[in-house]
Amino acid sequence: MEAAASARPHPGLVRLVRRRLAASLVAAQRRAVGTITHVATDSRAVALTFDDGPDPRTTPRVLQLLEDFGVRATFFMVGDSAARAPALVREVAAAGHAIGNHSWSHPPFPAISGRERRRQLRDCATALAPYGLRLFRPPYGEQSLASRLDALALGYRVVTWSVDPRDYKERDGVVLAAKLLGEIRPGSIVLLHDGIFEDQDRHLHFEPRQAPIHEPREEMLTALRQVLSQLTPVFQFVTLPELLRLGRPVRAKWWYDSREART
Ligand SMILES: [Zn+2]
Repeated sequence: MEAAASARPHPGLVRLVRRRLAASLVAAQRRAVGTITHVATDSRAVALTFDDGPDPRTTPRVLQLLEDFGVRATFFMVGDSAARAPALVREVAAAGHAIGNHSWSHPPFPAISGRERRRQLRDCATALAPYGLRLFRPPYGEQSLASRLDALALGYRVVTWSVDPRDYKERDGVVLAAKLLGEIRPGSIVLLHDGIFEDQDRHLHFEPRQAPIHEPREEMLTALRQVLSQLTPVFQFVTLPELLRLGRPVRAKWWYDSREART
């Protein structure tokens, strides 16, 4: 070819190639270590996600509500809780919902070693087998570059959220429903809790630390019923894998370490 034979390529072409290369490197980096927060889509589709279960007190009630409205959702389960309630894990999967990994015992990932993080992911995956997908939600939404790379190494897509009505502290179901109805858009990923994982130092980790964590989940269930009854005529409630197929996953640089936030 003539271009190959000429002494040097055109400077404009070199600049163009460099720009393209830089852009594709940024895109590759974003795909590798970015965190999915929502999906850019024209479909009126939403993914509800329920964290910190399964909880024998609440998860069956959530399942019943979802069935009543004929919708699907995603459950990010804690391995330790899943191992105690294998029948409930099976029931969630049998109803067509997706199941993701929320660690074995819910520690903040930036605060523990890489070895411990990988153990947390693997042990949870074992408890969720054969139903768990390679989707990971970091406990408390806390993430460092090192913890993100551990999830990448084990083949997980990291998914956080775009709508967080803070259902773990809101004590009014009507307020909670209003927040959800005001914030849900096509492509939203909504954070709710069908359990509240409790460990000995949860008061050290949960944000905001000064507000007590609210149990039981009555307000969340009230809000969920209201949101589903108002939105199912206009929105499709789908699992995360389904939502991710309906548009372009939007990835953010999501770094959050509560130890830094406290200082
Ligand atoms: Zn959690």
